Amino acid sequence: MRNRATFAAVLVLGTVIVVAARNNDEVPVPPVPVAAAVSFQPAVAGYETVASAKKRTIALTFDDGPSKYTPQILDILKRQKVKATFCMLGNNVGQYRKTAKRVVREGHRLCNHSRNHPDFTTLTRSQARSQVRFTQRKIREVTGRAPRTFRFPYGASNRTTRAVVRDEGLRILGWTVDTRDWQRPGAAVITRRAVRGARPGGVVLMHDGGGDRRQTVASLENTIRKLKAAGYTFVLA
Ligand SMILES: [Zn+2]
Repeated sequence: MRNRATFAAVLVLGTVIVVAARNNDEVPVPPVPVAAAVSFQPAVAGYETVASAKKRTIALTFDDGPSKYTPQILDILKRQKVKATFCMLGNNVGQYRKTAKRVVREGHRLCNHSRNHPDFTTLTRSQARSQVRFTQRKIREVTGRAPRTFRFPYGASNRTTRAVVRDEGLRILGWTVDTRDWQRPGAAVITRRAVRGARPGGVVLMHDGGGDRRQTVASLENTIRKLKAAGYTFVLA
């Protein structure tokens, strides 16, 4: 599995390679963002688990929100009847409480993405723990739900910080398709990257926060339409 995962990481993502290079306290192991490292919880009603079948399922994930762009993304998801996973920053949740609540109310899944997006390979154990705990607390306080997954900012982790996340009872969420939407390459390019990178059981990384996300918003409806046309159904990561 490790070889296959390494191969996938090399194939799929520049980001993964960067991340692997940061993983300097141990033998390089593909960090999180490969399919092999991604596990899926039983889906909510009406949504199938990714691992369950060879069906063409895919998960959409949005990081670094909530932000002022999140409601537009929620509107598109609602129109398209698609559920997604939102990896939120604890500090943003406090700032966009209504939006965070709406994410839950509309049936999407929450994921802890730290308090303020540090590179976890530079943190001590206690700093990492406080990032994770603050965000768990904040999300639960605001939405009434506690996430069960954690995604490392930049996908950057090391043995210590992965242990912290697991000790907090959270599953580590990676991705298989990086749209690099934050580079703002144009909406059509974001859609093309998502669709070309799509594989059954895949996890698509996009961003609803952290900067100007108009292109992500503009790309989303087309991305969903094209994935549906390719036979994909959407699952929660
Ligand atoms: Zn992020």
